[in-house]
Amino acid sequence: MTSTQPTRRPTDAAHLEDEPDLPRELLNLPWIDCHNHAHTLSWDDRERYALSGCRSMVMVASGYHWTPYKPVRGEDIRYLWDDAINRRAAIERNHFFEAKLGLGVHTGVRIENPDELLEAMDDYCQLEEVVAVGETGVTPAQHVERWDVDHQQAVVEAQMGLAARHDLPTILHTPNQSADSSRSYRPELGTPGYEKNTTLGQEPVLEGENPALEAVKLDLEAAHAAGLDEERVVASHADGNNTEYLMEETDCYLSYTIGHSWLIGVDAADVADAIDAYGPERIMVDTDCANVLRTDPYALKRAIFELYRYGIDVDAIRQVVYENPREVFGLADGGSE
Ligand SMILES: [Zn+2]
Repeated sequence: MTSTQPTRRPTDAAHLEDEPDLPRELLNLPWIDCHNHAHTLSWDDRERYALSGCRSMVMVASGYHWTPYKPVRGEDIRYLWDDAINRRAAIERNHFFEAKLGLGVHTGVRIENPDELLEAMDDYCQLEEVVAVGETGVTPAQHVERWDVDHQQAVVEAQMGLAARHDLPTILHTPNQSADSSRSYRPELGTPGYEKNTTLGQEPVLEGENPALEAVKLDLEAAHAAGLDEERVVASHADGNNTEYLMEETDCYLSYTIGHSWLIGVDAADVADAIDAYGPERIMVDTDCANVLRTDPYALKRAIFELYRYGIDVDAIRQVVYENPREVFGLADGGSE
């Protein structure tokens, strides 16, 4: 404490002990978003990624949210892939970050003729810009039309087989339980922030005590049957319900989705807890930003600072937001070869 403060009476500043060492390097730390749908966002949202230091991203084209016709046919999904392929290079040229693709068949809605889609997918997997298969994964309940578990699992397994053959990682859509809310909304209005006709939600095809976790176990079964190594599986939407299983009983990577915490209740604190419990070696963070949801393109950059505040050191932060996805998806001139 110095007595030479010019302030009229002592302020907080007069009582400062040691100034903390601030992690200035986090301001410019490059980061990778290994699961988003940025090709569906606005130009301004994509610019936000660039402005906040995104180095690379995997834009995932597989969601049924963007197929207007219900029921969904294979050609509808293929349109999503082609649309993403069509626009990807322009997105890179506009914003300078590396934008690669994940292509897959999501099982959140039944696809009428998945076989011809899976057949076509083989050729798509050879494209240099395709760095992942997915998102996919058994889903306990569908939109519009139910899809029985065996058929879903077969579609997941077929995609994992393609991933194994083309040496691509698979992005799993692991189901979350929604964040607790004290009230529910009028059913005819659905959930504000999520553009979807929620009245079309179907009765579950997977029941029991913990269908969300059961679904992940079925995905792992599919990976084994397809000959896909567990370390080539990135379980996105990791959460408190599946972390222990994935960490302790598999070699999968876990990617925590923090771009719509208001919906699924996962945020940087969960990531910090997982790093404390298991180390940073198999952890990543993604935003899942998409136009049909209230999502935040700055979420990953914000999480970088938040992880530090929660006590995670800079090296571990760099590993989860940059090095792990760099290696697994071969981005930013990385790759395990
Ligand atoms: Zn997604």
